[in-house]
Amino acid sequence: MDYIANLPPTHVLQEKDAAHHLHPFTDTKSLNAKGTRVITRAEGVYLWDSEGHKILDGMAGLWCVNVGYGRTEIIEAVHRQMQQLPYYNTFFQTSHPPAIALAGKIAQLAPDQLDHVFFAGSGSEANDTVVRMVRHYWASEGKPTKKTIISRHNAYHGSTMAGASLGGMSAMHAQGGLPIPDITHINQPYWYGEGGDMDPAEFGLMRARELEAEIDRLGEDNVAAFIGEPIQGAGGVVIPPKTYWPEIQRICRERNILLIADEVICGFGRTGNWFGSQTFNFKPDLMPIAKGLSSGYLPIGAVVVSEKVAKGFIEHGGEFYHGFTYSAHPAACAAALANLEIIENERLPERVANDTGLYLAEKWKMLGEHPLVGEARICGLVGALELSPDKAHRASFEAERGTVGTICRDHCFESGLVMRHVGDSMIISPPLVITRSEVDELIEKAHRALDMTAADVTAQGIK
Ligand SMILES: *Cc1c(COP(=O)(O)O)cnc(C)c1O
Repeated sequence: MDYIANLPPTHVLQEKDAAHHLHPFTDTKSLNAKGTRVITRAEGVYLWDSEGHKILDGMAGLWCVNVGYGRTEIIEAVHRQMQQLPYYNTFFQTSHPPAIALAGKIAQLAPDQLDHVFFAGSGSEANDTVVRMVRHYWASEGKPTKKTIISRHNAYHGSTMAGASLGGMSAMHAQGGLPIPDITHINQPYWYGEGGDMDPAEFGLMRARELEAEIDRLGEDNVAAFIGEPIQGAGGVVIPPKTYWPEIQRICRERNILLIADEVICGFGRTGNWFGSQTFNFKPDLMPIAKGLSSGYLPIGAVVVSEKVAKGFIEHGGEFYHGFTYSAHPAACAAALANLEIIENERLPERVANDTGLYLAEKWKMLGEHPLVGEARICGLVGALELSPDKAHRASFEAERGTVGTICRDHCFESGLVMRHVGDSMIISPPLVITRSEVDELIEKAHRALDMTAADVTAQGIK
């Protein structure tokens, strides 16, 4: 059925959706009772729903539409590639021009030490690849006991079995018997929620040094790697103190374990540099990427690895028994190449660092003055507002976690803004092409939603 030329009424779409579509990360029963929102088109930083409402997308889809919607350069590149070669694999000693071009382009853009690319279809697949790759690396170095990967509580590394195991989301672990073996978790560098009276810099060091203690507990000969998002995204935009990553790097180097930066959100300009590791001043050995790699136009992910890790493959020989039918899918590679060209030509990382990021930061700090906001933190174009009943003490609500966040999220939608909530923090990650006047609009709508939320909190007596 042609839903583009001939869109049925919203209630029909909602009924069909409820009848046949199981949504990810959704309570299907409550969604079906309410009816899904149907997004029908998008342009720039705006979405339109089936009722004709125009909505400012403060989340860039799911943290991914870095270059904004409707970019004809990407659409045309994909169209051309589809006509030329819509699919071929890269398993059987074959390659194709878009894979070759994209691997080279990523190697050029990635930090110096990262020069080799293994393609996957998503961020989760990239992280599954990471698990197998680091274990294969240590085995090929003659150290097969170095298998355990250390991650953090409240990390997000995807939804496949290995991705969710690397992640530190307890609700995800509870479903399906995770984590898989040989993955452990240390505490996160979440100063607002867990730092108490400590100075943030000191807290960052303390949390980083938990890695040292965990390596001691496991034995260095059993540890393969540490993985972390430069900024935890889905965990609530946890921006670590400046002291954190350099200390993590020191420990990884001294204890001879690999350092993995999950750049699925931070990569491709989000923090004001091409990669989050550059903003936080460390050099990873492996870098899973996805989301901003294609700005979500087509699904693609990859793991970028250092010369040292690649050596395990290139010099030692032997087959790596791993890969996906859609590793380096030609159309997805074409989308990624056109997307990277836009990011480069429009100097989006620089624009975030020197213009829109600074402008948003100034306005965001002003939202931090709102009586309902305990902290307003931001880095580049990714930020969070912690909602609190008592800003002076960084207190959380006594009501069930997420109650106030959900109210605020709904008010944002009503005001024509997508802002996501993680518990009682509100999250933004807008397209990197957002202009100053669109930032003004985002802030104004967020402010209005905060006012309405504060009124509800008072009226409903939420503590
Ligand atoms: C989204 C995300 C993933 C998973 O990517 P998918 O494409 O959804 O599989 C992994 N890591 C981080 C940091 C993410 O934000």
